[in-house]
Amino acid sequence: MFPHSEEFTRQDTLRGTITPERAWWDLQYYHLEVTVDPKTKSLSGKNTVRYKVVEAPKRIQIDLQAPMKLTKAAQDGAELEIEHEGNAHFITLKSAQPLGEEKELILTFSGTPVEAIRPPWDGGLTWEKDSNGLPFIANSNQGLGASIWWPNKDHMYDEPDQGVLISVTVPENLMDVSNGRLIKTDHNKAAKTKTYHWEVKNPINNYGININVGDYVHFGEKYKGEKGELDMDYYVLRENLAKAKKQFKDAPRMMEAFEYWFGPYPFYEDSYKLVEVPYLGMEHQSSVTYGNNYENGYLGRDISGSGWGLKFDFIIIHESGHEWFANNITYRDIADMWIHESFTSYSENLFLDYFYGEEAGSAYTLGLRKGIANAETIIGPYGVNQEGSGDMYNKGHNMLHTIRQILNDDDKWRAILRGLNSEFYHKTVSTRQIENYISQKAGINLTPVFDQYLRDIRIPIFSYYLQDGKLNYRWENVIESFDMPLKIYVDGKEMNVTPTRQWQVVDVNQKNAKIIVDKDYYVGTMNILGN
Ligand SMILES: [Zn+2]
Repeated sequence: MFPHSEEFTRQDTLRGTITPERAWWDLQYYHLEVTVDPKTKSLSGKNTVRYKVVEAPKRIQIDLQAPMKLTKAAQDGAELEIEHEGNAHFITLKSAQPLGEEKELILTFSGTPVEAIRPPWDGGLTWEKDSNGLPFIANSNQGLGASIWWPNKDHMYDEPDQGVLISVTVPENLMDVSNGRLIKTDHNKAAKTKTYHWEVKNPINNYGININVGDYVHFGEKYKGEKGELDMDYYVLRENLAKAKKQFKDAPRMMEAFEYWFGPYPFYEDSYKLVEVPYLGMEHQSSVTYGNNYENGYLGRDISGSGWGLKFDFIIIHESGHEWFANNITYRDIADMWIHESFTSYSENLFLDYFYGEEAGSAYTLGLRKGIANAETIIGPYGVNQEGSGDMYNKGHNMLHTIRQILNDDDKWRAILRGLNSEFYHKTVSTRQIENYISQKAGINLTPVFDQYLRDIRIPIFSYYLQDGKLNYRWENVIESFDMPLKIYVDGKEMNVTPTRQWQVVDVNQKNAKIIVDKDYYVGTMNILGN
C-alpha cells in the first residue's frame, strides 16, 4: 500500500535507482563553481567531479533538471559527447578508466532554475528582497534533488567522500553563505563581484549543499562540546541582528541536549552554522537554514497543543536535529525517509525531556497524535525517488516513543541513539540496518513493531473484557507476526502484559477493575463488553 498510486516513469527510475551508469564510479569530491545573477534570476558555472573507478567503465550518468542546461562535459582536455534523456545525461568517456584510479570530469552548466513555489516543500530557488530592497536568495531541494540547479550524481547512496568546495560569485554588495567553512573571498573590482569559497571536509548529502545570498551580518560563539571546541556561527540579515542574538540562544541549548542524547555533533571540522533564509528552514549540513520569524514554536504555533511546543524555536531544534539523523545517518533511498524525520521529530521530545523533564516530552509527543492520518504507509516505494506518507513525522515519532517504553530503560535507550550515530557515522543506510541495530542492542526482536508501524497503516488495539474477576485480553488490528509487550494499570496498579493475537487470561481478583493502558504507548484500547 503505497502513498502515491501514480504510475512511475522511466525518468523516475533513472532518478531513483543505482543505474549501471552510476554504479561503476564512486564519487569522491565536487568543486562547484557558480555565479548567481539576481537580475536575470539565472545561474551559470562549472562542476568538477572527481570519482574513483570501482567497476568496468560505461557511459557516465549525470543529472540536471530542465530548464537548466548541461552545455559541456570535458575530461583530460577533451570535450565529450553527451546524450540527453530528459533530466539524465549520459556522457561517453574517451580516456582510459583504470580500476581503482581517480578521474575528473568537468561539467559546464547554465540556465534559469525552477523557482520554489512553496519552499522548502516544493523546492527550487527563492529570489526575495530584504526590507532594504537588497536581493535575498536561497535554494531548497530535498526530494526534488540538487540537480534542480547544478549537475551532479543525484542519488543519495553516494556522497563525496573527500568533501566539496563551493565557490559562489555574487554582486559585491552581497555575501554568499554555503556549507562548511569560508576559506577565502576574492574581490573582482572590475566585475563588481565577490567570490566566496566554502570548504566542506566531510561527506555531504547533495540535497544539503546550498547557496544563501544576502546582506548578511555575522556573530558567533565557541561551544565546549564532547569533541572539544566547536565553532557555532550565525549569519542573519543586517536588520535582524538584535532579534537573532536573543533567539539563537536556543542553538547552544540544542547542542547540549543533542550531544547528550545522540553523541558528538557529527561535523566539528566543518563547524555548525545557522543561516537566515527567505523560507521556513531546512537541514542543510553544517549550515542549517532558518526562517521561523525569530519566534518560538512553529511560526509562533505549538504544533502539539500541549503548551510545551512554545518552549523552543521549532526550526532551530528540528532542523539541527537533522545533523544527526539525515546528515550523519542518511537514507540511501528516499522511501526510507522516516530515518530522517521520525528520529528528528522525536528529537523535539528529547530536547524537552533534557531541559524540562520526561513528562514535558511525553505531553508534547501525545499532543502530536491528532496530526496522524494512518491512511498511507510511512515507508514508500523503492527505486523511484518517492517518499512515504507524512506520518513519518508524528507517527514515526510516536513509534519511537513507544519503543522507548518497551525498553523501559533510558540508559539503554540513550546508548542506542548514540550507538546509531557512531555505528553509521557519515554513512548512507537502509531502514533494515537501522531496525536490526535497534533490535540487536535492545535485546528484543522489534521487527514486528517496525513492520506494524512503518509498513502497515493499522494501529494495534488492546482488546479486553472482564469476567468473573479475570482480565481477558489480546491484540487486534495487527499484522500476523505482531508481538509487543504493554504496560497497563489495573485499578491504578502497574501490570506488564504480553498480549498476542490469541486471548489470554489473568486473574485480577476484582469484578469491576478499572483497566487503563499506559498513555505513552501509541495503541488503541477497546473494552469489548463495555464492562
Ligand atoms: Zn525534518
